[in-house]
Amino acid sequence: MMIVIMDAQATMKEKSAVIARAESLGFKIHLSDGKERTIIGIIGDKRDLDKEQIERMPGVERVVPVLKPFKVASREFKPEDTAFSIGEHTVGGKDLIIMAGPCSVESRSQIIETAHAVKEAGAHVLRGGAFKPRSSPYAFQGMGEEGLKYLAEAREETGLPIITEVMEPALVPLVCDYADILQIGARNMQNYALLHAVGKSQHPVLLKRGMSSFIEEWLMCAEYILSHGNTRVMLCERGIRTFEKYTRNTFDINAIAVAKHMSHLPVIADPSHATGKWEYVAPAAKAAVAAGADGIIVEVHPRPDEALSDGLQSLKPEKFAKLVEDLKRIATAVDRHVPE
Ligand code: PEP
Ligand code: MN
Repeated sequence: MMIVIMDAQATMKEKSAVIARAESLGFKIHLSDGKERTIIGIIGDKRDLDKEQIERMPGVERVVPVLKPFKVASREFKPEDTAFSIGEHTVGGKDLIIMAGPCSVESRSQIIETAHAVKEAGAHVLRGGAFKPRSSPYAFQGMGEEGLKYLAEAREETGLPIITEVMEPALVPLVCDYADILQIGARNMQNYALLHAVGKSQHPVLLKRGMSSFIEEWLMCAEYILSHGNTRVMLCERGIRTFEKYTRNTFDINAIAVAKHMSHLPVIADPSHATGKWEYVAPAAKAAVAAGADGIIVEVHPRPDEALSDGLQSLKPEKFAKLVEDLKRIATAVDRHVPE
């Protein structure tokens, strides 16, 4: 890929001419129309464009090859942070977005009760799995479409947008009918057919980092989604597998800073799966915000000991409410804001 950095004063006509030239040579275009300047990404399969030929065109400042394997996801391609709206709020800007809810939708009353509780405590998005990726085929697999219906009812009652996982390409249209944000789980991070499908859907996506994935692999997976022109992608650090067994995973705070540095995409932290024990969820969440995360996604259950999945790492609503209060102060310290 090459990126064409246009002059700050370049006209629409000059930009269109560059796009037309690249397209006529069989290249694909990715446009980043920033406040400061326009960057035109030119992607070809193998061949590279004649750099000088484009550089001579009017309105072009310079042409630079993107050396990183991820292109559209990179800061080189888009220096400004990506921000987009989620319900009434914006993720990727100054606002810190808080997503909360149970690991799984277990019943109509459970999700509606939890939705009210997390909204009351200050959450902006309701989470809840209807299709669950469980390590054992005998464990609760989720309520499926019935669960999606209850999530939609909970949204209706509280006004909270909903995020839920989709596990297979064939189910993307169904999940899109209900969800405001599609979650790609850690186990499916490299399910390329699924990444193509959610990319094509043009629905906002939260892409979890695979439990044993390099940051570069994670960004390459975001690239799959972005390659379909779906720009509304969030990255989610949810802990990685290390030799340590006391916690479920090891929370990779480094990855938050690295992802923010290498990519323009918003980064969300999941302190629940990162730690696996409710006692450590709040400290990990606070550290994530201090490290520059654009939001958090937290598991909350009204009665964790009755939860059908991830009860050990679920916060009770009161503990979650206290966490939100603490995060407001930490957000201020790092020049962020938790919207009401
Ligand atoms: C979840 O969010 O409940 C979940 C299964 O997460 P992960 O894919 O990160 O394990
Ligand atoms: Mn879970």
